[in-house]
Amino acid sequence: MIHDNILIAHELLHYLQSSKNEPNKGFVVKLDMSKAYDRVEWNFIETIMIKIGFNVKWIEKIINCVRSVKYMVKCNNILSDVIISERGLCQGYPLSPYLFFFCMEAFSRMLIKAQDNNFLRGIRASINGPRINHFFIADDALLFVRNRKSQKINFEKSMVLFSPNTPIVQRNNFSDMLGMTVVENLNNYLGLPIPIDINNRLSCRINSWTKRLLSFGGKEVFIKAVLQSIPTYALSIFLAPKGVVENIQAKLSKTWWTRKDGGRFWIMLPWKTLRKPKGMGGLGVRDVRLFNLALIGRQVWRLINNKDTLCFKVLSSKYFPDGNIFKAKKVDKAFFTWSSIAAAAEALKDGFGWQVGNGDTINIQTDNWGMEGLNGDAIKGDCLNSNETSVKDLWLADRRSWNANKVKDVFGQDWGEKICNVLIGEEGQRDKMVWFHKPHGCFTTKTTYSWLLLKEMGYGPHKIYWKAIWKLDTLPKIRVFSWRVGHEILPTKAKIASISHGVDKSCQRCGAEVETLLHALKDCPTSRAALSMGGWSDSMFSKDCVHCIDWLEDLMWALDKKAMADLMVLLWNCWNNRNNLIFRGKEDTAAVIWERARTLSDDFRICNLLKEPLISSNVEEKKWKKPPKGFVKVNFDATVRINSMGYGAIVRDDDGFVLGGGGGFIDTRMPVHVAECVAFEKSIQLATQLNIKGDVMFETDHAALVNKLRNIGTDVTVVGARIKNCIAAFDSFNSAKLIWTNRACNKVADLLCTKMCSEEKTCFFDNP
Ligand SMILES: [Zn+2]
Repeated sequence: MIHDNILIAHELLHYLQSSKNEPNKGFVVKLDMSKAYDRVEWNFIETIMIKIGFNVKWIEKIINCVRSVKYMVKCNNILSDVIISERGLCQGYPLSPYLFFFCMEAFSRMLIKAQDNNFLRGIRASINGPRINHFFIADDALLFVRNRKSQKINFEKSMVLFSPNTPIVQRNNFSDMLGMTVVENLNNYLGLPIPIDINNRLSCRINSWTKRLLSFGGKEVFIKAVLQSIPTYALSIFLAPKGVVENIQAKLSKTWWTRKDGGRFWIMLPWKTLRKPKGMGGLGVRDVRLFNLALIGRQVWRLINNKDTLCFKVLSSKYFPDGNIFKAKKVDKAFFTWSSIAAAAEALKDGFGWQVGNGDTINIQTDNWGMEGLNGDAIKGDCLNSNETSVKDLWLADRRSWNANKVKDVFGQDWGEKICNVLIGEEGQRDKMVWFHKPHGCFTTKTTYSWLLLKEMGYGPHKIYWKAIWKLDTLPKIRVFSWRVGHEILPTKAKIASISHGVDKSCQRCGAEVETLLHALKDCPTSRAALSMGGWSDSMFSKDCVHCIDWLEDLMWALDKKAMADLMVLLWNCWNNRNNLIFRGKEDTAAVIWERARTLSDDFRICNLLKEPLISSNVEEKKWKKPPKGFVKVNFDATVRINSMGYGAIVRDDDGFVLGGGGGFIDTRMPVHVAECVAFEKSIQLATQLNIKGDVMFETDHAALVNKLRNIGTDVTVVGARIKNCIAAFDSFNSAKLIWTNRACNKVADLLCTKMCSEEKTCFFDNP
């Protein structure tokens, strides 16, 4: 992971530059490796490849590729003899980076050896941290050297950075000897933009665009495109300072509200409304701060789960010696990269928790475990003995299941019931930290972002309206119009009067006392006439409402999608008509408005009819299909009842001939995804019992199970571990796979498990 390397490099540089400890800590040399390509000797590559242990024939082939280069020089029209080169890798040639990599590997080994022999001692970020003397990041090589002995390195264009209290004499000595430029700061050379940069880049992009006239629909796309292009690379290492975040958000907000003519604009809704998901009345614009936290969360996740990385060793030895990132010790003057990670860990810690495996490393009092919100705070009484500290103490003696009575005593009825449903891993499975908000337990930036956002704002009212408007089959500008109507942020007279005094509130069209949005769109005579012309009955207008959104959401219960879209188009035309009167003194009749709205709607529909329909119309006939020649197909299914589950499986060959089948019943309550996993396990057992060893297809209609299997590499849940065991059991067949099928093709298995479940029995049969 490149992020790991950047974190370590910063940590070491920070150590070198902080002047708190001993005065003279060492120096860092940055080598320019891009030139080194031209200097690689071919014999060297060959030797290395032999040392690494490649096959001789393979090496011969590779070296032939390299050696095939020949040069001739034309001077005064006379061609020279053929020049045969002995070194240099051609840059841009696809093979070159890999060959160069071999050389770097040799260089790295030599440096490690030099460290072991005490010739070139590296530095370490903390007393117990690992000593590091070199580092490769893309094209850069960094050498960290503790001051001790001189070492002759002759590279031009490289640079050296000393720790601040290194005496001048020593500095001069070294730099003379090395022949390198002395610099004060290496940060710029690490290919790392600092957050301030983001801001400038953003301004450039916005400025290059705002000259264009964009509708609201266009602006929405633009803002999202700009935000998505913010370098996530920098944001996944650094926590952007508050000022930078606010600046970015202010710029985007300004872009949204600026008028086409570039005149004064009015920010009608705060940023925190814009960033809400669309289904909750926002625009779904990414919140920079939360997204930043979610990105850094990935580093937190890596530090939780990848404890054998160098990065973990460097950071943990300095900041969290007991290996738990959530229990970091306080370090004054911690470096920016670490304080960023610590801030993210603090913000995300409720989302992480332990999944119960062996149950002995989870502390009941201090850890989050099982599900979100479950920790020491959930404990009701004090019926725990002082020696009962780990989750394992809540199990029945010598069994891997919950002691229901005890759990309910300790946590009360509600939590108790939930805890008894928490899965316990199989024997030998260690307790593991998981991310609660993703089915396979693995951290993702996307789920984290939504979780942070939801946590901060909660659910709001009018969910139906907000969800529906973005799904309307209509022009984007009409959807944004619907959004603005929902928030009542169209500049009606009443709205304008609310912010500036002395403005006349009355309706310019009919003279009504106050022109609210509801009046302008629904009650003003011209609008009302246009609506009636559209065929909407009076009952639509009869209900008394204060806000437009109540009126429209109410209608959504009665109107279908097409009618709703038509209505919004009509309202949009009513609103434009009202503006025409106010700004241009020209008003159309209701008939014209209606006609215009109808044309717009029809045009939109005709254009969209040309597109492919969303769902293909030729429906396939759905029934069970025979497996390919030589294959055996096992169909299985599971049913879940309140306090029990049933499973069923049927095995058929390529003629559709039944080889065996059956099912069973388990007297326990379990979630659907666990039940499906049980059915999968049982069907493999059945196939094994029937002595099937050839090519097998397992078929289920449960898509979640197939998806889980597809993502099994990243799955860290208890069920995930059981599915992994199932895959391991596949080894007893010549070939085996799990496929999804339609429910209608899995009827026999479905029938079997329903029968087993209702008759509460378990039985299997095979064909003699
Ligand atoms: Zn009016």
